[in-house]
Amino acid sequence: MNFDFTDEQNLFADSVRRFAREKLAPGAVKRAHDPRFPFDVAKLMAKQGLMGITLPQQDGGQGGTLMDAVIAIEQVAAECPRSADVVQFGNFGPIRVFAEYGSEAQKKRWLTDLLAGRMAMSLGMTEPDAGSAVTDLKTSARPDGAHYVINGSKVFSTFSTDAEVFLVYVRYGPGLGGIGSVLVERGTPGFTVGAPSAFMSDEEWSELHFADCRIPAENVLLGPGGFKMQIAGFNVERLGNTARSLALGRYAYNAAREHALTREQFGRPLCEFQGLQWKFADMAVKLESAQLLLYRAATNADRGLPSAYETAVAKTACNQAGFDVANEAVQIMGATGYSRDLLVEYCMRRTRGWMIAGGSIEMLKNRIAEHVFDRRFDQRARKASAAE
Ligand SMILES: Cc1cc2nc3c(=O)[nH]c(=O)nc-3n(C[C@H](O)[C@H](O)[C@H](O)COP(=O)(O)OP(=O)(O)OC[C@H]3O[C@@H](n4cnc5c(N)ncnc54)[C@H](O)[C@@H]3O)c2cc1C
Repeated sequence: MNFDFTDEQNLFADSVRRFAREKLAPGAVKRAHDPRFPFDVAKLMAKQGLMGITLPQQDGGQGGTLMDAVIAIEQVAAECPRSADVVQFGNFGPIRVFAEYGSEAQKKRWLTDLLAGRMAMSLGMTEPDAGSAVTDLKTSARPDGAHYVINGSKVFSTFSTDAEVFLVYVRYGPGLGGIGSVLVERGTPGFTVGAPSAFMSDEEWSELHFADCRIPAENVLLGPGGFKMQIAGFNVERLGNTARSLALGRYAYNAAREHALTREQFGRPLCEFQGLQWKFADMAVKLESAQLLLYRAATNADRGLPSAYETAVAKTACNQAGFDVANEAVQIMGATGYSRDLLVEYCMRRTRGWMIAGGSIEMLKNRIAEHVFDRRFDQRARKASAAE
């Protein structure tokens, strides 16, 4: 077992860090408070080869590994936390499921623009009555000649205010086997993107409404029975959230460490107070243990899509570590940490969201418990038996 990066990984990490320091660090604070998708960063990253890192070269990707993409998130976030979202977008988000299962014609139509940073894609999965219980989704896709007619609505979709194309989970028929997905372009008659709302992180999302929205059959990504394949691909997205949680926690930790070394109270630097030293010790343990779990899930995934169990363990640990550490960093830095002039409070707000998004910590723990007991625990209310 080797816990060190290979020479190639070290070289890659150094080159991404240099790029991020030179091109992304200037303006990092302003960027964090801009709710819109940073297309300027996406274009820079496309030139730098940071979009489609894990995608095959014939699809316009870099032919790299998932671990390379994790390294890219870490190095970018260390200089500009907000720009790590673009690494997520170009490597882990719906683009990954799209590239995995899309037809050649679909990829030709959208993938080039997405990988060039000219277009954003948004994932429409959650519905007003289907959050954690995502398989309760109702948005329907009904065949009609060479078309499908979509009806329903979606909420909380990241980048929906800027996206041109939407990967939408739909129901073709009843049950788990009836779920699949379609691609819908902004501007399609019957498809409305509502007014923007904001998360605690300041990111915007809009409700998506489908009212007899007709899409050509070529826009079907996965037909009935596609749900399990989508969720297997979605584990990649989860690892991106995992990596960003940890990276933003580490950003806040480094800022707090620097502050504790230089800020003096009672005639001594803060780092000399044991009450703060133990906070740093706890933070270091949380970050380092979570990082090993992230690297295990990402490295093993290089032999295929990541394991649901290893992803659940890594995401739970990194989501909790990232938020706890960022939260402590705010405390250690006092009013300076709470101020919007620095990015520590941003890291705290941002990491909070990933404890809910992409599989909440509670739902991940349900998945881990199933592994522990080697049996499935149905979360649904039991139907009353005839005798009751
Ligand atoms: C920052 C952010 C970005 C997002 N981006 C997207 C996106 O791009 N596309 C998209 O489709 N959606 C997106 N979402 C929505 C996200 O997928 C949902 O918020 C998530 O699935 C939880 O659903 P919910 O919010 O409806 O909470 P609910 O499902 O109502 O859950 C409420 C609480 O109950 C807990 N809970 C529910 N069921 C159980 C159970 N069986 N056992 C234990 N606890 C349970 C949950 O963990 C949670 O704490 C995003 C959310 C956030 C916060």
